[in-house]
Amino acid sequence: MTKTVLLTGASGYIAKHVVLRLLEDGFHVRGTVRNLARGEEVTKAVQPHLSDDADLANRLTYVALDLTSDDGWDDAMVGVDVVMHTASPFPLAQPKNEDDLIRPAVDGALRALRAAHKAGISRVILTSSTAAISGSALPAGDTAFDETNWTDPNDPDATAYVRSKTLAEQAAWDFVRDEAPAMQLTVINPGFVLGAPLDANYGTSISVIERLLKGKDPMLPAIGFATVDVQDVADMHVTVITQPQSHGQRIMTVDRFMTFAEIAQAIKTAYPNRKVVTRVAPNAVIKFLGLFDPAIKSIVPSLGRIDKIDNARAMATLGRGMRQAHKAAVSSAAYLIENKSL
Ligand code: NAP
Repeated sequence: MTKTVLLTGASGYIAKHVVLRLLEDGFHVRGTVRNLARGEEVTKAVQPHLSDDADLANRLTYVALDLTSDDGWDDAMVGVDVVMHTASPFPLAQPKNEDDLIRPAVDGALRALRAAHKAGISRVILTSSTAAISGSALPAGDTAFDETNWTDPNDPDATAYVRSKTLAEQAAWDFVRDEAPAMQLTVINPGFVLGAPLDANYGTSISVIERLLKGKDPMLPAIGFATVDVQDVADMHVTVITQPQSHGQRIMTVDRFMTFAEIAQAIKTAYPNRKVVTRVAPNAVIKFLGLFDPAIKSIVPSLGRIDKIDNARAMATLGRGMRQAHKAAVSSAAYLIENKSL
């Protein structure tokens, strides 16, 4: 029988790819959006990529839900088999008040899990982040970050976003342990997600590539990210639905760590005639600028850091190697050049 997946935050960059994969795999999708008008946008983004768009209005429907309000959650769960919770604020700049990120992330995750539990839905997949794994230094004796590592939410260097993702994931595991031990929770922890978006309403990670393509920054900070292709992140969300071995697991979904300069170089190699800055700023310059700009200050603790990442569980789950991160960077740039005339 056809299964229905309730997907929160369907208007998100990653979620639109997940919608596509779910529909291609024969699931029905009930997407949650804050504003129902965004539902039409999601359908328009996904439809051209479907191998068969017959009966789409029945296979892909929407309900309005907000992470910060109880309204509608119980009704949204009626007839649902699987809950996939991707919604969480992911802004480019950190807010003045960190609770603007932390409260919707934590309370939203708990609303999704509570409503699922109340409705008797046991299969839940939650989108966390490597921010909840590698936001603090690698413990002495460990050789690479893996799913056993946790960011310390009290780490003074953790940004509001890093804290929001760590606390939301912890709240989810605590809820399962204390209130819903039979719940089959799988947590997906993607790294920095790149790859062509399905439409021009893309999120923060693609905005970073947009900024690189605009070539306005004279130099790049010496920072980097464990990077992953958005299609692998979507594949992971859908693959685990039918994998009982993933119950109770976190899955760090990354290809490899790329420095910002490597990402820029990959794009420059693909588009040699474009002015893409690849020069790296001395750390002292970034630290100095950080004295005046809180956004720059927040990256100072990451300067020079190159994380070793163990993605064995992700590859075992997908049963294959990961798509190459540098190609995801180039396809993000290709989308922006072709569709946004950058
Ligand atoms: P995105 O495009 O900004 O999507 C975020 C989604 O969350 C949007 O659908 C947004 O709805 C929704 N949302 C935010 N605040 C909400 C609220 N108060 N109530 C209801 N919905 C709310 O970001 P994304 O990159 O696709 O990220 C999706 C998920 O992946 C997030 O959990 C993020 O933390 C995680 N993640 C992303 C990356 C990355 O590099 N992109 C890496 C690791 C993890 P609106 O459209 O209404 O704003």
